[in-house]
Amino acid sequence: MSASPARPATPPSINQPHGRRIFNFSAGPCTLPVPVLEQLRDQMLNHTDADGPHGMGLIEMSHRSKPVQRVRDEAVSLLREVLHVPDTHHVAFIGGGATMQFGMVPMNLLHPSRRAAYADLGAWSTKAIKDARTIGEVDVVFDGSQHDYMSMPEPADLTCDDDAAYLHLCSNETIAGLQMKSFPRVAPPLVCDMSSDFLSRPIDVADFGLIYAGAQKNIGPAGVAVIIIADDLMQQARTDQVGYLNYAGHVKGDSMLNTPPVFQIWAVGLVLAWLRDQGGLAWAQQQAEARSRIVYDAIADSGGFYRCPVDERFRSQMNITFRLPDEALEARFIREADDAGMSGLKGHRSVGGCRASLYNAMPLEGARALSDFMGSFAAANG
Ligand code: PMP
Repeated sequence: MSASPARPATPPSINQPHGRRIFNFSAGPCTLPVPVLEQLRDQMLNHTDADGPHGMGLIEMSHRSKPVQRVRDEAVSLLREVLHVPDTHHVAFIGGGATMQFGMVPMNLLHPSRRAAYADLGAWSTKAIKDARTIGEVDVVFDGSQHDYMSMPEPADLTCDDDAAYLHLCSNETIAGLQMKSFPRVAPPLVCDMSSDFLSRPIDVADFGLIYAGAQKNIGPAGVAVIIIADDLMQQARTDQVGYLNYAGHVKGDSMLNTPPVFQIWAVGLVLAWLRDQGGLAWAQQQAEARSRIVYDAIADSGGFYRCPVDERFRSQMNITFRLPDEALEARFIREADDAGMSGLKGHRSVGGCRASLYNAMPLEGARALSDFMGSFAAANG
């Protein structure tokens, strides 16, 4: 048995003063900006804000205290600023992640007399459909299983009944690496799961009735979802669900209907400030294009050694999936990449293969290190 290769003397590293930080290509939870992690660390024991040091950490304080409310207000206003959220839409942070939204969406928006339209674009859409069916009638307007979830219609071809309660989409299917490049224009409100490409590009929020996103990719730690809901849609929503699952309750309670996930909201606010300082969504989009091009080029230039199964028109800039000639080589690729300081490259357990997730906090050097490694691995094993 050959020993696994020694870790290189100078592994790829994002920030040496913190010790060895490797390039983390996990699909989420995932890499976060180092300055955000530093601020969380520095403030953890003695939260300091405009009123000075408080002698305790933020997560030790009452959520009704001024410092916690200030952190919540800053996170909301930064999100409004970075994403240009119009006054017609409310923003709320809700504990429970994106999965809870699969249920909350139909509980609030699918009235018993109506039907909801869903595009089945991949594994996450399928889960959303399954949960919606426990609440009411669902029409699947596109069935991606016919294409192994590797393709989708052009947005203009995605239609639904004008009287559907809403059309549910997933802008980026994290597992397959399939991304909507634009959005359909239909009569019913668009409801979109943006968990894995939220804040990676500018979007027009006014085009959506409801956007939701689990935080643990581009915006912070797991455990909270961001909700952006149009006021008119919220006003028409059902109110016959339990209190916690009612959107209006969270909006009226300013994301503090109950004790909120304070740490997550704090971290999201810091990520948003970092993103704004980098140049906002124009910067995020330019980075996402550049990063993903480096890795897709490595696939294209490999003479067929690496193969991306996704329709070229809809390849994700966030999650790049690829196969090698066989599963043994894939296992070796993942192991040796790990040894070279690049983790999280294993594809989702349901589909296998490899996946590189390149979220906002992944520097271009990470994509370059991966591309270099892919080139040398292909040369050694092709
Ligand atoms: N939707 C998408 C597109 C996702 O990628 C994920 C998680 N990877 C979820 C929903 C579920 O998110 P959570 O774990 O926060 O419930």
